[in-house]
Amino acid sequence: MRQAVPLMSQQAAALHPVSYAVWYEYVARSNAPLQKAVDDSLTRLGRLDEAKTYALYRQHISEVDPRTAELVADVFERVLSGMSDSANRAGLQTERYSHALEHLRGSLPDTAEGPVAEILEHTAAMVNAVHHLRAELAASQREIRDLRAEVHRARHDSLVDALTGLANRRSFDERLATLLLDANISAPDSAPLCLALADIDHFKRINDRYGHAFGDEVLKAVARALSGVVGHDGVVARIGGEEFAILLPMMSLHHARDLAERARSAIASSRIRRASGETLERITISLGVASASANQEPASLLEFADAALYRSKQDGRDRVTVATSSGVVS
Ligand code: GH3
Ligand code: MG
Ligand code: MG
Repeated sequence: MRQAVPLMSQQAAALHPVSYAVWYEYVARSNAPLQKAVDDSLTRLGRLDEAKTYALYRQHISEVDPRTAELVADVFERVLSGMSDSANRAGLQTERYSHALEHLRGSLPDTAEGPVAEILEHTAAMVNAVHHLRAELAASQREIRDLRAEVHRARHDSLVDALTGLANRRSFDERLATLLLDANISAPDSAPLCLALADIDHFKRINDRYGHAFGDEVLKAVARALSGVVGHDGVVARIGGEEFAILLPMMSLHHARDLAERARSAIASSRIRRASGETLERITISLGVASASANQEPASLLEFADAALYRSKQDGRDRVTVATSSGVVS
């Protein structure tokens, strides 16, 4: 930030999150193509104007993920707030100076009247300019706050499955990776993290028989049922069309299997009614449960749980299968 801001302020483009993002990446040396493009533009143009800055942003940064954007907005808000504080102090100081001058005016000889009047005029202009600056900074701060709210919303949307409100695949991948790291650090020998994969049985038939919209209602109902069973013990995600994953940190395989069994039974024993009032045949899910071993990679834990789920399907569906640590499904 300390390196980016001075560079930004030498440009023709205004100070805003887009120019900050460009210069932040430039000084962070994290984006070689951007660095080269900026250097080329500076050689050619001397300094970056608004259009060039936005073009560089679109070309080299706009793929930035919302988490980074949120961080950028945070830092920018701090910068602006610091600038705003300085402007406020400068404003107060200028006003004080103006009052002091006004006060002195009475005790000065008449011959000083002309120059003093002129100084007062300049001081009034300065007070005005600072006032203007403060108003502009306040407007920029409001803009940043709006932007941050927008980025926050975008980040939320990028992690949540729109249909069910559950965590989506991206969010699941992030959490799985983090939880595996945590598990390895906190308990390298036992890695108390379990993963259950659930897949709705014969879901295609439901879609074929009752239509896609009703299929969506079933997905929502299954999501609610899974969330109800898991509660605060874990995280439920929708990781595919009719596939769900349940992350169960700090849980033994034995307890994870019990929980999976409760989820299976809750769904098998509920009935979904159509708008017409007709009650459907049972909806069931199959599950596969695996527990992480020390230093396990996310993909490998997923493979074990998936193998167990596959076995549940083969053995007749509507059941829970547990993968043992050796990869053999029991
Ligand atoms: P199995 O018991 O072996 O899992 O059979 P299945 O029919 O559930 O599995 P299959 O993979 O053959 O079909 C999954 C279906 O899920 C196919 C697809 O149309 C449907 N599906 C995927 N995503 C959605 C969705 O968002 N909404 C709806 N309504 N259907 C979806
Ligand atoms: Mg499936
Ligand atoms: Mg299925």
